[in-house]
Amino acid sequence: MSLLSIASNTSAWRGYEYYKEKKVISWKQTSLSVFEGEVIGSDMPYHVIIDTEHPKKSTCDCPHAEGKRIICKHKVALFFTVFPEEADKYMAEIEEYEREEEKREQEHYEQIVKYVKSLSKEELRVALINALVEAEERSRYR
Ligand SMILES: [Zn+2]
Repeated sequence: MSLLSIASNTSAWRGYEYYKEKKVISWKQTSLSVFEGEVIGSDMPYHVIIDTEHPKKSTCDCPHAEGKRIICKHKVALFFTVFPEEADKYMAEIEEYEREEEKREQEHYEQIVKYVKSLSKEELRVALINALVEAEERSRYR
């Protein structure tokens, strides 16, 4: 179980941005699996410790994570700074997901086009009326 896999999507993404913006100002390795660093916060730098062997033992003194086992963006930023290859892997996975999402949308669009082309004029009229009514109802209840 890696630190990244127990982080929320938001923390992972914000942590990636912090890493890219070089908000980790310093870090050092203190034992085999423990890394300590300073990450730029809103007022002052936060003191972050990550344990890659036991991710839940990682700490950060930001208001979001202090005293809790939450993986905040500062922990993720430190993790990516220590292991840049993990950041590349993370980004590659996101791009892959976006490509697949685009493909799914394209396929869905093609299905709709195919369906519409298969309809007769009368069927088209009925389908269009139904679609307009549905769209109107949806906007009314929003
Ligand atoms: Zn934090």
